[in-house]
Amino acid sequence: MHTDTFLVAAGRPARSPGASVNTAVELTSTYAADGPVNYARVDNPTWNAFEEALGGLEGGLALVHASGMGAISAALSLAGPDATVVTPDQTYNGTGDLLRAHESGAGTVVRRHASDTAGLLVAVETLGPGDLLWLESPTNPLMDVIDLPAVLARSRDRGVTSVVDNTMATPLLCRPLQLGADVVVHSVTKYLSGHSDVVLGASVVADTDRGRQLGDRLRRHRTLHGAIAGPMEVYLALRGLRTLSVRFERACANAAELAARLETHPAVARVRYPGSGAMMAIDVAGAPDDPGPAERVCAAARLWLHSTSLGGVESQIERRRRHPSEPDTVPQSLLRLSVGIEHLDDLWADLDQALNAGTVALRP
Ligand SMILES: *Cc1c(COP(=O)(O)O)cnc(C)c1O
Repeated sequence: MHTDTFLVAAGRPARSPGASVNTAVELTSTYAADGPVNYARVDNPTWNAFEEALGGLEGGLALVHASGMGAISAALSLAGPDATVVTPDQTYNGTGDLLRAHESGAGTVVRRHASDTAGLLVAVETLGPGDLLWLESPTNPLMDVIDLPAVLARSRDRGVTSVVDNTMATPLLCRPLQLGADVVVHSVTKYLSGHSDVVLGASVVADTDRGRQLGDRLRRHRTLHGAIAGPMEVYLALRGLRTLSVRFERACANAAELAARLETHPAVARVRYPGSGAMMAIDVAGAPDDPGPAERVCAAARLWLHSTSLGGVESQIERRRRHPSEPDTVPQSLLRLSVGIEHLDDLWADLDQALNAGTVALRP
């Protein structure tokens, strides 16, 4: 089955006369004894429908978590108390904050490396079983692309547990389990649900002995720490997932064309577009350490939504250094763009006027 078809067909109730086309939202905390499901913190049929769809999409076994950070917390718990965790120096800022908390806690050593393949290959050589490799590609917000097959193969040879945050690429562009990753995590909040109306996360492991062992630990973390998803959120995410391929196709086409046009825009010093996907970043003309012009561009935008987050149907723009936890390797002048599914001409007209308005003071 093609992915587009799978997205529509997966996670449906069995077809029988009178059966519902959609999985029911089960609003119950408990179940009558001796059935397949016992208590809704442990399991829930509404979760299972979404997990079946996402698992199939990534080629593994999925678990839904209360948020992307819920999934990330569960995945980080796979590092033992004295483990070393290797990450690129650029990670999602929530992940970075959580790693700092681990560092000051249970003896975990965190080593950050330049977000490039060569640096990570060297770093992985120092790791062994029990240690953890954390990857994101492309990185957020600088859009660096890491050679995942190369780094993951080295990590697997050394018995290291590897995790890939696949939120930005989505399984339509990248399937890390097929490239050798042990665990994939998602902020389902973003592209997978796609309408900026839920906060949700997921983890996925391979359907192998090693994968199922890791999956059992992730499930136990979810059950005991209690960061579980509400059934309504999961229903909305599965509804959003139905249209992922058409949304993403349009968003990626818009992004490719906008990236090409921005290359020659006088108000743009640099375009950081990885060549695929619907995310990019631009360095606004002027001094890299001057937030002024970039802030004015955001303020002048009318159609583009000045907000954090990404992956919704609506286009979003944000100066990432607004957040104190964003590292100083990110220029003050950098704007991150999450390109949506609106008409290209409208997106370009608004972005062009906003860029011109924001940088008017820079012109002689
Ligand atoms: C948003 C995001 C997260 C965190 O997900 P939440 O659903 O907000 O908890 C993690 N990783 C990436 C790459 C993200 O964009």
